[in-house]
Amino acid sequence: MSTLFISDLHLEDARPQTTEWLMAFLEGPARSAQALYILGDLFEYWIGDDAVSKAALSVAAATSALAGQGLPIGFQHGNRDFLLGADYAARAGLRLLPESIVVDLYGRPTLLLHGDSLCTDDIEYQAFRAQSRDPAWQASILAMTVEQRTEMARNMRDASRQHKGAVEMAIMDVNEQAVRQAFIEHGVERMIHGHTHRPAVHEHGLPGGGTGTRIVLADWYDHASYLEVTADGAASRTI
Ligand code: MN
Repeated sequence: MSTLFISDLHLEDARPQTTEWLMAFLEGPARSAQALYILGDLFEYWIGDDAVSKAALSVAAATSALAGQGLPIGFQHGNRDFLLGADYAARAGLRLLPESIVVDLYGRPTLLLHGDSLCTDDIEYQAFRAQSRDPAWQASILAMTVEQRTEMARNMRDASRQHKGAVEMAIMDVNEQAVRQAFIEHGVERMIHGHTHRPAVHEHGLPGGGTGTRIVLADWYDHASYLEVTADGAASRTI
């Protein structure tokens, strides 16, 4: 019995190899899992459920087939695919999850989140994040034509690349205080997130003497990997 976690695949038609890796994962390890969680940035960008990529169509066919066979697939939004909506989720058999959720994994409550909310040192990004999660702003974007939205997504990715080049590496990582606060706020001693593309297992001292374990998922730029959680613990695996 195992529960699997993936994030930051950044799927797009321009890089079909990554979609093929996902298909192999869905036809392989995912088939025998008890549940699958996708913790954001499944797609490189998302401009609306009315304008899905070829990659997104093949993903939907594969995930909905698995969901139909009884595999629960939870999805959290990332900072790239925050506009992924109920239509696509229904088509793909994905359960849309809130941005933070505590799930019981074999008796151990575990906080799941994309991870960008923990990067509080990046003030500019946090301002964008607040805007991008605002339903009124989202509605105004979705009201644009597909051409306008495609152009906007391109501009946003360019801006993101420039921003990454301009700010210090430390600022792009999680803030220690935000991490501690998340452990306390949610009353957990384990969290799993992606976003930073810095796969690792970190231990954080908590007030009161406890230790919080923070597992960071890997991105899929160079290879495919997933986290497998069982009653015995968590292990990172490559495909
Ligand atoms: Mn991200």
